[in-house]
Amino acid sequence: MTLNKIKSLRSSVALTQAAFAELMGVPFRTLQDLESGQSNVRDVHMKAAKWAVLEAAQNNLKGMHIPEEVIEVASRALETYALRDSCPICGRPGAKMAPSTGGDYSEYTCENCGTFRISGTAEAMWGNTAPVARFRALAEAKSKISPSSNDVPMIMSYHLK
Ligand SMILES: [Zn+2]
Repeated sequence: MTLNKIKSLRSSVALTQAAFAELMGVPFRTLQDLESGQSNVRDVHMKAAKWAVLEAAQNNLKGMHIPEEVIEVASRALETYALRDSCPICGRPGAKMAPSTGGDYSEYTCENCGTFRISGTAEAMWGNTAPVARFRALAEAKSKISPSSNDVPMIMSYHLK
């Protein structure tokens, strides 16, 4: 018999049933039933178990193997957080990145700089640009749109040259 999914998540972080149940937020008995097959493992249990793995990860890194699917979600979340962390123009903390709507750009809103977009190509060049060039690029992108419109300025790669 193959390990059930919940049990395999618990084994990956080498926790006892009691400790894992506590991190999942379920009674000990519920976890026992889930692992033994007495109860059906539902989506909500899997999600709680993955969360428990993350909680365990911050306390105990020895002898643990964090499952790939959990690592993937955690790293994507951290990446998004890092991007949100500061404005790419002025460096002010708290700039927000709107989820991309499928276009090849990222959108930011900053209290200093307003709302603007950076094309994928321009963003790829970002690390090699001087701060002064970034301010100039934003000013140029803003000058291309009518102030009365709802258009969002878009910084293109040629603005950075
Ligand atoms: Zn800014």
